[in-house]
Amino acid sequence: MGTVLENAISLVQKTADLLTLGKRYPGMQIIERMTIPDKVIMFRATVQLDTGSLKVFNCYRIQHSDVLGPYKGGIRFHPEVDLDEVKALALWMTLKTALVDIPYGGAKGGITVDPKTLTPTELERLVRKYTFRLVNDIGPNIDIPAPDMGTSAREMAWIFDEYRKHRDSAYGVVTGKPIALGGSLGRKEATGRGVVCTMLEAAKELGLENYTVGIQGFGNVGSHAALDCHARGIKVTGVSDITGSVQNPDGLDIPAMIKHRDQTGGIEGFPGGKPLADFTSAPCDVLLPCAKENMITADNAAGIKAKLIVEGANGPTTPEADQILESKNVLVVPDILANAGGVIVSYFEWVQNREGFYWEEEDVNNRLFTRLRKAYACVRDTATRKKVSLRQGAYCLALEKIVRAMVDRGVQ
Ligand code: NAD
Repeated sequence: MGTVLENAISLVQKTADLLTLGKRYPGMQIIERMTIPDKVIMFRATVQLDTGSLKVFNCYRIQHSDVLGPYKGGIRFHPEVDLDEVKALALWMTLKTALVDIPYGGAKGGITVDPKTLTPTELERLVRKYTFRLVNDIGPNIDIPAPDMGTSAREMAWIFDEYRKHRDSAYGVVTGKPIALGGSLGRKEATGRGVVCTMLEAAKELGLENYTVGIQGFGNVGSHAALDCHARGIKVTGVSDITGSVQNPDGLDIPAMIKHRDQTGGIEGFPGGKPLADFTSAPCDVLLPCAKENMITADNAAGIKAKLIVEGANGPTTPEADQILESKNVLVVPDILANAGGVIVSYFEWVQNREGFYWEEEDVNNRLFTRLRKAYACVRDTATRKKVSLRQGAYCLALEKIVRAMVDRGVQ
């Protein structure tokens, strides 16, 4: 199994070959320009803990490509964050924004930290230090961070506030902010809602009816996808998170599960279902991996019962697992399409900040669904014409658009 970065690069290379980019654009160094980031920013943040002692953190911001617009991408707080992971996530952002046709490039940031081990005041100091170090590199027309794993509206508010101390106050410097600070209605829910929107398109294509859903990861993406399924009357029969797995063949009470998670820190011990030993092989028609990378691997892909997988997380399926799923005729809606709802509504937030005019949640959702359905149809059409998977089709569409812009811009 390669690293996530190796896997991402190898799929870009394969896509470039499929599109004969080397032959069509000789000497344009497309692969290098797609796989080597524009700028790699790595630094140390030293933060004083509440006890008075100091702690040192590794911090990253990767600006992958701005060929289609300002850099855009989330900030991840997780103990396993490293340079390669952030590079892969930044590359995926470039592909994602191109695929769903928004005027951004791709970036990603991260800090190697388990946010649960810090107090809110320690976290605030860390976020402010991170922002201060990046103050020349971010901005509403330069690079616009957003939440990812381990971060939320709270951290975005601190970034906005720290940035404003050093530069002109600009709401559009960051998205996923609290509503009171220029956030958009529907942003918090957008990634999960987008996952469900693409799931509905794929289920229609497969002719699935009265299907059951299993969801891995019950954070921002997973819990909002679960809530949306629940609101639509689609049964969520299994959920897992870092604390454990719970199943109920009659459907889980998702609002009650969210309450339980908020009170206890996880879904373990939720009284509305039974614990589950092996989540990925549990019976369900649709599986939504919404936790993190490399969760569906050669070791567990064969045991998956679902007919449809919709990737809420980035990179949840390894290339080896992808092959196994293809041979089992399981349809996989790829991450750069399925979880693009977050960056789409981040774009809407940035537009609203620039206009100073704020939309109703219904408008946000309608515009989100229209874009995602259109993107799904384009990916399906490309995949069918080229006789490739939806993932390969999505990469073809995204890469073709990026390369067109590279060529049009010239190189001087
Ligand atoms: P989060 O931190 O809010 O939640 C992560 C969830 O995954 C938690 O419930 C955690 O317990 C669970 N988890 C972690 N390790 C696990 C394991 N080994 N088994 C089962 N569950 C596990 O993060 P999030 O913002 O929901 O992001 C989840 C994924 O979605 C990431 O890959 C992220 O890059 C991607 N994503 C997030 C957004 C967004 O808007 N937040 C947008 C696009 C993509």
